[in-house]
Amino acid sequence: MDYGKYKNARNASWQCILDYNINILPVKVTDIINKSDNIRLVKNSVAKILCNGISGITIVDNDKFIIVYKDTDNSKRCRFTIAHELGHIFLGHMIVNQTTYRTFAVQNDTESSANIFARDLLAPACVLHELQILTAAEISRLCNISLEAATYRSERMQELEKRNAFYKHPLEQKVIKQFNQFINKNKSQS
Ligand SMILES: [Zn+2]
Repeated sequence: MDYGKYKNARNASWQCILDYNINILPVKVTDIINKSDNIRLVKNSVAKILCNGISGITIVDNDKFIIVYKDTDNSKRCRFTIAHELGHIFLGHMIVNQTTYRTFAVQNDTESSANIFARDLLAPACVLHELQILTAAEISRLCNISLEAATYRSERMQELEKRNAFYKHPLEQKVIKQFNQFINKNKSQS
């Protein structure tokens, strides 16, 4: 994958955490939607527009975004779908009058970067590092993401831990400050 794009999705997730003042896990994705007056969330059980095998879609309507998600999926999956669609919006993948959607069969650049955005938003590496939450089971529980998504996150965390690749970017330094209270509270409980 193109490293420029990877950095882009990662930075965008940090920027989103800062912009929406996210300071606890699990991240409440609906809070982000509620705070954005140009993004609306619609259940597919109401909209009935998703094809089989598609978990989410973002529709651009003038300057508004409508995220339709498959609400019959379990909540962990729904959270990831919504975060993924937010990735498309925040990474500027949307072109007016064009729709971008998520499939599992097709993997292209925009799909990969939306997945990275979702992963980094829902399971911020620096917070997991400070709490030393590194196994898939622990990550899944703390971040309320599927064990499958947490397994990928865990593998990535091992790599980051080995390289001690934290706080090299000013945005990540700001993110960890924002989570300071959450980290201290969780540390004192463990
Ligand atoms: Zn997508």
